[in-house]
Amino acid sequence: MPNTILVGAQWGDEGKGKVIDVLTAQSDVIVRFQGGSNAGHTVIADGKKYVLHLIPSGILHAGKQCVIGNGVVMDPFDLITEIGILRAEGIEIDGRLLISDRTHMVMRWHRALDAADEARRCEKTKIGTTGRGIGPAYGAKMGRTGLRVGDMLSPHFLDAVRGQSDAANEILASWGAPVLDVDEMVKVYRQAAETLKPYIADTVAYINEADRKGKSILLEGAQGTMLDIDFGTYPFVTSSNPTSGGACTGSGLSPRRIDRVVGVIKCYTTRVGSGPFPTELKDETGEHLRQKGGEFGATTGRPRRCGWFDAVVGRYSAMVNGVDFWAMTKLDVLDEQPVIKICTAYLRDDGVRYESFPADTSVLDRCVPVYEEMPGWMQPTSKITRYEDLPLKARVYVERLVELIGGRLGILSVGPARETTLRTGL
Ligand code: GDP
Repeated sequence: MPNTILVGAQWGDEGKGKVIDVLTAQSDVIVRFQGGSNAGHTVIADGKKYVLHLIPSGILHAGKQCVIGNGVVMDPFDLITEIGILRAEGIEIDGRLLISDRTHMVMRWHRALDAADEARRCEKTKIGTTGRGIGPAYGAKMGRTGLRVGDMLSPHFLDAVRGQSDAANEILASWGAPVLDVDEMVKVYRQAAETLKPYIADTVAYINEADRKGKSILLEGAQGTMLDIDFGTYPFVTSSNPTSGGACTGSGLSPRRIDRVVGVIKCYTTRVGSGPFPTELKDETGEHLRQKGGEFGATTGRPRRCGWFDAVVGRYSAMVNGVDFWAMTKLDVLDEQPVIKICTAYLRDDGVRYESFPADTSVLDRCVPVYEEMPGWMQPTSKITRYEDLPLKARVYVERLVELIGGRLGILSVGPARETTLRTGL
C-alpha cells in the first residue's frame, strides 16, 4: 500500500478535506504535518457536515489512526474543543488520536501577540493573519523558545507558562494592547495538560513503525503551495511549509518512504486575505464563482477572492511538490460560464513574459495575465458519476488544464459530497 503526500496546489481551500476523506479509505494512518487551527477542512460524510481544524479527517473513518505531526502548531484549547465536538457526534477518539510530543504549542500569548501585531499594522502591511497565534508560535519554534506538547509532561511546564506569559505581557503593554492574567494562564494550562496527556506520544517512532509493518500512511497538508513560507507569495504566506518537503520534516517519515504526491487543485483560483493574485476577478464573474462555489472561509467566514485558473501557479506547484496525480475540484462551479479563461503566462508592460512564478511579486503589479479562452459546457455536472459521462467541453477543459501543468489526473470532483468524486486513476 502506498505512502501518499497530499498538498494544496494553490492558495489553500482547494477542497483538500474531501480528497483526503476519499484517500483515507486506502490508508491506515493519517498524519497532519503542518499548520495550525487556522486551517479548516470541510468534509461532508453521510450527509453530515464536519469542519476539522487540527484533527485529520481520517477520524471520521472508523478504525483509522490519526496523528497530529511534529510540524503542526497546536493550540491545546482548540484541540480540546475539537475532541469534544467529535465525541458529542459519537465519534470514537481514544486510542485513535496521537499528538506528537515534538509538536509546538500555540499559547494564549501567541494569539494575543498575533492580534496586537496585526492591529498595529497599516492597511498596506497587514498580512491577513487569522489572529490565531500561528505566526508567533512558529516564530517561537524557530527562535528556540517554543513550548512543545511533550513539555506538558514536565514538572517545570507551569513555571515556563508563568515566565513566558510575563515576558509576553511586557511586549503587549509596550504596544498598548491588553495584557494577560498570568495566574489564569497557569490554571488553564494545568487543566489542558491533564486533559491532553493520554494522547501524547513519540509519533516519529509510531509512524516509522507503522511504515515498517507495511501500513499505508497518508500525510495531509493544510493551506497551499502559494502560502508556503519559502515558495509562496512572501510575505503574504503562512508560517510553515505546506509543500511536499514539509510533509517529511513535519512527520519524521523519510522522503525515501514516499510513493506518490497528490496535488489538490481547484478548476479556478481563490485566495483569502491580502497578497498577489494575478487572475483575480473583481467583477460579477468573480462574485458568481464566490456564491456558487461557497467561497467563504471554513474557519473565519471571510469571503475568498476568486479568479480564473492560473496555469503558472499550477506548473510551479507541480514542480515544487513533484505532483504525480492531480485531484481537481469544483468543476461544477464553472457549469454556468459561457466562456472560461485559463491564464498561461504573465506579461509585463515592457514585454517580458513570465512562465514561472516570480519570487519578487512586486513585478506582478506591472503584469497582466495572458489568457486562452475555452467555450463553457453550460450544463450541470454535479450529478455525473463517471468521467466519460461529462460534457465533452468539460473534459476538454480539464484535459487542457492537465496538459498545461503536467502530471496526471487522479480525481475529479464535481460537488461537495463524497459521491461526487470521479476517480480516474487513484
Ligand atoms: P480545504 O481547506 O482545502 O479542505 O478546503 P475547504 O474545506 O475550506 O473548502 C472546500 C469547500 O468546497 C467545502 O465546503 C467542500 O465541501 C466544497 N467542495 C469540495 N469539493 C467540491 C466540488 O467539487 N464542488 C463543490 N461545489 N464544492 C466542493
